[in-house]
Parts: sequence; structure tokens; C-alpha cells
Amino acid sequence: MIKSLVTVTLWGLTGWTVASWISLTAGWVVFTGGLILMILASAMQLSQIRRWVRNLDNPPPVSVGPWNEILAPIYRKLKKNREEISELNKHIDAIMSAAEALPDGAVTMDDNMLVTWCNGIACEHLGLNLETDRNQSLFNILRDPVFLKYARQPEWTAPVLLHLNRDGQEKALLVQLTRYGQGQFLLVTRDVTQVEKLETTRRDFVANVSHELRTPLTVLLGFLETLRDMPDGSLTPEQKEYYNNLMFEQAQRMQAIVADLLTLSTLESSPTADGDPVDMAQVIRTALEQARVLSNGQHVFVTNLAEDLYLKGMETELASVVSNLLTNAIRYTPKDGTITVSWYKTEQGQACYSVQDTGIGIAGNDIPRLTERFYRVDRGRSRATGGTGLGLAITKHVVMRHNAELNIQSRIGAGSLFTVTFPRNRIVQDAA
Ligand code: ADP
Repeated sequence: MIKSLVTVTLWGLTGWTVASWISLTAGWVVFTGGLILMILASAMQLSQIRRWVRNLDNPPPVSVGPWNEILAPIYRKLKKNREEISELNKHIDAIMSAAEALPDGAVTMDDNMLVTWCNGIACEHLGLNLETDRNQSLFNILRDPVFLKYARQPEWTAPVLLHLNRDGQEKALLVQLTRYGQGQFLLVTRDVTQVEKLETTRRDFVANVSHELRTPLTVLLGFLETLRDMPDGSLTPEQKEYYNNLMFEQAQRMQAIVADLLTLSTLESSPTADGDPVDMAQVIRTALEQARVLSNGQHVFVTNLAEDLYLKGMETELASVVSNLLTNAIRYTPKDGTITVSWYKTEQGQACYSVQDTGIGIAGNDIPRLTERFYRVDRGRSRATGGTGLGLAITKHVVMRHNAELNIQSRIGAGSLFTVTFPRNRIVQDAA
């Protein structure tokens, strides 16, 4: 302002000097010309400023006369604000990434329970789509009556378990509502489907074990009670031997179940087995000797064993797989049936152990369940032949620990083919 007044005064003085030396008209011309020059300079500066205002990210123009003093602090303030906003954005991005990385689902809602934001896991859990569901009421999205009842409570001290059906699949979700900020709500969801399944499996397992052990125990106790209550000498030696044998059988059955359970729990405690080179042909030959004793000459055995095909693994575990499949073939193949045992290298370079029988066979819908603990197609037949219902469950674990695969092909009345395929890297070439 003062600068402008000084300039006007200077032009006035110059005009006055010219007027007194030349003429009044010349003086006015000089003064007016000076004022016009000042206005033009001002207009140019303003147009430079106008251009800068369109893009405030750039520094302000330098030669804008008196405007310099005004623009410089404005620009400094703008720059500072920009830096602060960028810093805040970084924080927000970090928080959003953390919210996205949460293993649980999170949905935020305003005071009317309208969805404002949710992370990817919540979208998966509840089938939310933020683009279409933003500003929708949560109660329109999650219509489960159990949830509606839960949400109506004044306080939510504990989560609620919901069973939702999403894309034809039953899902168990643990859901917790919380108030936060100023009247906003947060919904946290956790998928507990697997936990529930494990819990059910555990319960079923305990029930199965108890049931399996209770039967022989009841028989054993019955005999013991009868023997205790009978007067001395009332049993003939033959009857005594008969009872003893029955009790021995039941005790053996319980022992077999407990032994198999212990084997299973040992196998489950470690996922992989490295082991040493195992002469599989030899292991199979040893198992065959025992199998022939069990068969008691009732079956025809065909063997096809590749020598020098060693396998890196745990010998005792592999031996249990070999004999389990062989024992099953004998137990589920009637008299005069043929059992073919093979150990060979496939064209793809894998090693295979297979047992084929011409026995009773298995229905297609039973095949996927055979490796479940205590699953038997025919309970009576399995028990009558000394089965625990755990053999194939053990086999499956050993197979998994050796990175192998168990394949079962079977047809009712036509027989079964059990094949265990070991990967190439388990084969040991120069073990001998
Ligand atoms: P189990 O001790 O009852 O034999 P497994 O786990 O070894 O238990 O086998 C599970 C069920 O699979 C058996 O009860 C039987 O019904 C069926 N099974 C297994 N092997 C054969 C086979 N070779 N032929 C027909 N059924 C079989």
C-alpha cells in the first residue's frame, strides 16, 4: 500500500517537474502515463496470480510486486497442510491395511446400524459387497433370527454363534457387536466352522472309543460274574476252557483297540516321516508269511515284487501298511479267492504297493469313508474277523507321512484293489 502511494507520488512529482519545465499538458501526460503503467503492471501480476491459483501445488510466481509478501506465507501454509494431509493419509492407509489383514471380519456401522465400511473377510463371511451394501441396514443383510435377537439386547458382553448357509455350505460364525466412538457400532465375525467340526469329531471319537471298549468289557465282566457266582467245581474242565478262551478273546480285542489307538496318536503327533532306505520287497515277503498263516490255505496268493526297489521311510510304519492291506484282503475275501500283491515302479517313476483281491468288494458310497476311524461297512464281519476299524485310518496316516497316496477301487462282489503310490523322491536307487 505504502509502496503504491510512494510510486503515485513519484509519478506526480515527475509530472509536476515536466509541467513546470515544458508545459502543463506535458506534465499531465507524464502523470497519466505513469498511472496507466502502474495499472498495467498490476493487471499482469494479477493474471500471473490467477494462473498460479489454478495449480496451487507449484510455488507462487516470483515477480508479482507487493503480492509477493501475501502469497509467500499462503504458499508456506498450503505446503504444510499438504504434508500433514499426506502424513494423515499414510496413517489411514496403514490402519486400513491392518484392518484388511485381520484374520477376523470387521464391519463398522453408524448410529442407525447402517454399514459404513467392512474388510474383505467380513465380505466373505456375510456375503457383503461394500459397493452395494454401504448405507444399508445390517439387519437387512444379516436376517438370521438368532442374530436379530442378539442385536436387540442392550449390551453385548459375549459373542453369539450363528449357523449360516452360504452358497449351499453351512458355516459357523462367532459374531460380536460392540459400541465405539460416538454411537457407532462394530461387528466382529470369526469363522469357527473348522473348530466346530473338530469338536464334533473329537466328541464322536470319544463316543466311539467308549463304545468299542465297552462291548468286550461287558462280555468279559459278564463271564467273570458268572464264574464268581458259580459254586466251586460246578464247571467241567471243557466248560472252563471254553469260558477262558472267550474271555481271552475279548481281552485281546481290547488290547488291539488300545494298541491301534496309541499307534494313531503317535502318527498324528508328527506330519512327516523321513526315515531310512527300506527293502520293501523283503518287508512284503515277511508280511506274506504271516498272511499265509492267517489265510490257513484258503486263498491263492500271487506275488509280483520288484527287487532292489528301496523306499526312504519308516520301516515299522510301512510294514504296518503292507500287512494291514494284506490282512484286510484275507478277511474280506471268501475261501478260494485270489490275492495279488505287487510292488513295482510305474512308468512315471513312482513306487507302488498294491493288494488286489477277489473278495466281497465295497459299495461306491462307502469308499470315501473307509479311512475314517471306526468306520466299517459290515460291523459284524469286521469284529468277527478281529478288526478294530482303525486299520485303514492308520494306513492313511502312514501314507500321508510318506507323501504318498492311497487309492481304492472296488465293486460289490467283484473284489477290491488298494494301491499306495509313493513319490519318486522317496525311491532310493543304490541302497543295497
Ligand atoms: P477293520 O479292522 O474293520 O478291517 P479297516 O480300517 O482296516 O478296519 O477297514 C475298514 C472297513 O473297510 C472294514 O470294516 C471293511 O468293511 C472295509 N474293507 C477294508 N478292506 C476291505 C477289502 N479288501 N474288501 C472289502 N472291504 C474292505
